[in-house]
Amino acid sequence: MTHIPGIVVTGASGRMGQMLIKTITDSEQARLVGAVERTGHDWIGQDVGTAMGGQPLGVTVTDDPLEAFAQAQAVIDFTAPEATLEFAALAAQARCVHVIGTTGMSDEQIAALEPAARHAVIVRAGNMSLGVNLLVQLTKKVAAALDEDFDIEVIEAHHHHKVDAPSGTALMLGEAAAEGRGVNLADVADRGRDGITGARQRGHIGFHAIRGGDIVGEHDVLFAAPGERIVLRHVATDRAIFARGALKAALWGQGKAPGQYDMVDVLGL
Ligand code: NAD
Repeated sequence: MTHIPGIVVTGASGRMGQMLIKTITDSEQARLVGAVERTGHDWIGQDVGTAMGGQPLGVTVTDDPLEAFAQAQAVIDFTAPEATLEFAALAAQARCVHVIGTTGMSDEQIAALEPAARHAVIVRAGNMSLGVNLLVQLTKKVAAALDEDFDIEVIEAHHHHKVDAPSGTALMLGEAAAEGRGVNLADVADRGRDGITGARQRGHIGFHAIRGGDIVGEHDVLFAAPGERIVLRHVATDRAIFARGALKAALWGQGKAPGQYDMVDVLGL
């Protein structure tokens, strides 16, 4: 019996899924014990290492998440909102730490995680990287220090496959700016502008999404006032930063009390 936590990766064939599998198998602190894909996916029944084009890893891709979770101490999940909700209930049943990287969840879907969080640890963040979570803290501080003469705009860029906009990270940054200002983001968010929008409203927080090529993820928080501008920027060039953060969260969550946490908790920021 080993004390090294066993981890299941859901969405194993995805961009993040494959990066997570590499990160876990390269780590001495965790073991890969399961790989889950959706029913009907061609990887089901194959060894996940072979399916990724490398050496066999001794883990067969399955479409039975509960069976996989029963062998594990943590599930790392970068899939899609409906799948993540299903996995949350199953991970709680198996008492696994559930690390959720999936973005684009509605407020209702986020609220629906609560029953699972009564039984198990959930760590959810729209961005698992150390750099972005620091940027979130900086954004909150700068927004608190500046008055509404500074217009706040969050500009993000991602690859052309991304399905949700604004990105989960852009929303985290917008929330941080709103919190710094002591306002509710929903009351002040301008999500993209098109047509005769009228002049910019003082105190609003704007969001703009660029989609193209293979951009991993870039975020600017612009504070623009008459005569000066501050730009806080994070540029991700490698998905490994998200995978390393997710693995850290899975290890951090071991033995913690059930509940919902984020990367600020994990990183102790
Ligand atoms: P992707 O499309 O490459 O991968 C998603 C995978 O999930 C696919 O392999 C798909 O088959 C699988 N999947 C979907 N439904 C499933 C189900 N019911 N059961 C099992 N597998 C299922 O996408 P990606 O670029 O890897 O991103 C995945 C998610 O992670 C997105 O929401 C993205 O925004 C988010 N993301 C978050 C962070 C972060 O740090 N939080 C970083 C990067 C990406």
